[in-house]
Amino acid sequence: MFIELTDHLRCPEPHEEQYLVLLPDDVEHRIVRRGELGCPVCGRIYHLRDGVVEFAAAAAPRGSAAPLDAAGLAALVGLGGPGGYMVLVGSAADAATELAAAVPGVALVLVNPPHGLALPPDAPAFSVLRASTLPLKSRSMRAVVLGRGFGDAPAWVSDAARVVLPGLRVVGEGGEPSDNGLELLATAGGWWVAARTSSA
Ligand SMILES: [Zn+2]
Repeated sequence: MFIELTDHLRCPEPHEEQYLVLLPDDVEHRIVRRGELGCPVCGRIYHLRDGVVEFAAAAAPRGSAAPLDAAGLAALVGLGGPGGYMVLVGSAADAATELAAAVPGVALVLVNPPHGLALPPDAPAFSVLRASTLPLKSRSMRAVVLGRGFGDAPAWVSDAARVVLPGLRVVGEGGEPSDNGLELLATAGGWWVAARTSSA
């Protein structure tokens, strides 16, 4: 996990949004390989092992053929410059390495990526989380891409709308979302693109 992502993490328990305290055991080149994240509200401890933060033993997504290439996804998320974070959930993480090249300077947060996904070693741009919700602070991410099985799951869609910055985009695979916090911009090829409304 990229150490600076710590500032954007939250405890996934349904209590007030609060930061997590990182107790790192092994950090190299700004990547935390081993350690713990503690919640000051409920006292839960989340483990970081082999660079992966384990918020929950979430199942890997079903089916992981990359349905859109990185250039296509980069166009859908519409990021105009470097900085900040983009979240790739489930099978969307298949395109992570190519996407990192397509959106330089944007750090990637991979949530429940397919098991066995090959990532470049020692790349601080990648953080891997396993979780049953998005353990990220509200209005903290520049884009969220929801892969197969997540893009049509209402709980994940509304969580994506929560964490993305107002006016920025959530992209999903599956049927059109009905979340009030999102304004649908386009649908094509089984994917949808929406922007977070500023009032949400
Ligand atoms: Zn907590």
